Amino acid sequence: MSLQPLPVPTRVYHGEGVISYSQRHAARNHSNIADIERGVRQLGVRLPKTRVSPERFEVWQQLGSLHQTTFSTPASIAGSVVSDRQLCLRCTQGNRAMGRIPGVGMVCLRHKHWLGSPQIGLDGYFPALTAERHFRNHLARRGILFDSFATGRPERLCQGLEDAAILAALLDQNTDLPTAFARFAAFRQPRIKPLVRESAFIGRVVNLRPALLSAAASRATVLIPEALLTAHLATVASRSAFALPDRQ
Ligand SMILES: [Zn+2]
Repeated sequence: MSLQPLPVPTRVYHGEGVISYSQRHAARNHSNIADIERGVRQLGVRLPKTRVSPERFEVWQQLGSLHQTTFSTPASIAGSVVSDRQLCLRCTQGNRAMGRIPGVGMVCLRHKHWLGSPQIGLDGYFPALTAERHFRNHLARRGILFDSFATGRPERLCQGLEDAAILAALLDQNTDLPTAFARFAAFRQPRIKPLVRESAFIGRVVNLRPALLSAAASRATVLIPEALLTAHLATVASRSAFALPDRQ
């Protein structure tokens, strides 16, 4: 197969997936994915209907004059799904693009930009930047993903958000992290145990206790940079059936 690139070039962003890229590339060429792929099939190119396939990678690599390794970010690492998420809006000059960036936590260090929803600038919030560096240097290298506690089923995601809300409250009450995490562990023990049983990831981390603490510390500081998630977490908390532990 040898396809001519579309006339208007479109830069692919680091980690961007084929669906995101093909939408942007088609739109910049005043077309849409369906019409372009129909044209490609009419040229005799075999292109399955599956949204993500090696054939589709190759077609859009050629239509975009992209390197052959583009779109090759793994869909899972050590059994954990690598989430498809919105890329840093400042890295993409404001374009909405989705992709997998397993080595990155919740912060674009280049732009000091929080990658949650909504994305906002972190400016001088150094704890979040420090936590991000810690995550990248120590946890991401071991194949731990930023949402490892929350990937998979929706209830697991809710669990992760609940945990974040509880940790946020405990961190409000306890300025020192070890105390906050000790209380969190004690409070969440009944919920953590089944998670440990069912999650190979947590099982691995529990076997490396210092890593567990750093993972928790990293998640807490990365997940909860001051007030920016407060409203969101409060919403989660108000919908959830959990009660915060009493102040001590
Ligand atoms: Zn960025």
